[in-house]
Amino acid sequence: MSGHCKPYLEKILGICRCVLYGGNAGKSLVRWISISMLISALLFVFIREAKAERTIFDREKRIIVLDPGHGGHDKGSRGSSGINESTVTLNLARMIQAELENRYKVILTRTDDYWIDVTGRTNMANHLKADLFISLHVGGSFLHQVGGMTLFYFKPAGTEKTEKPIQNETAPSQWENIQKQYSESGKFLALLVKHCLLEQGKNLESEIQGAPVKVLEGADMPAILIELGYLTNPAEEKALCEGDVRWILAKGIARGIDDFFKKALSDSYINLHE
Ligand SMILES: [Zn+2]
Repeated sequence: MSGHCKPYLEKILGICRCVLYGGNAGKSLVRWISISMLISALLFVFIREAKAERTIFDREKRIIVLDPGHGGHDKGSRGSSGINESTVTLNLARMIQAELENRYKVILTRTDDYWIDVTGRTNMANHLKADLFISLHVGGSFLHQVGGMTLFYFKPAGTEKTEKPIQNETAPSQWENIQKQYSESGKFLALLVKHCLLEQGKNLESEIQGAPVKVLEGADMPAILIELGYLTNPAEEKALCEGDVRWILAKGIARGIDDFFKKALSDSYINLHE
């Protein structure tokens, strides 16, 4: 019970002491009225408290942590126009936040151009008891023709070979492999986001891949990493620099998140295929 109920309880206990230990033992009518008042007061306090708790619960929103990849000295991949991955991911994260914030509490792991290590990113999500963690990246390759979108969910090393490079940061994680238990829900989230992105954009090539992604392994909630195309691919760089394309991506990811919460408790996901 919260502190604001203490004054009521003290008054009630005072009445109680008066009734039980007062000197006018013979006045039974007064005692009966006092006991009735005591019961009424107790009921008032408990009903008031229950209503207050329900109001707080109703106001709660699900918490989503968006992680704009890289930042600070780590610019990530770089396009021929000079644009950096860290700039694109922060901009996209803000757009997704704008799409979601009327119905969720959305927190960004970084809100400007500064560095934060992989452990710090997932620790933030764990500390906030987030419902979802989504790390945003755009790819880079020495081969300009390499492109497409990949949605990664966590799969421990050794269970499957991965073809595409993923983050290779080697910072030790105190929560190592905690994400293993969320592999299926992460895959489910990736499927839904992919479907919603395809609905939003007509020519988005995308695939879903399980991999031991460092930035996901410490997250204690469903989590995915989305690599939204390649800055080193001239056509994709051009598209990623367009505001309209970024809004399409932001809306698609936001709708995928909505679908995840709508369908997570049902078994509808069994009809989805990669
Ligand atoms: Zn990256």
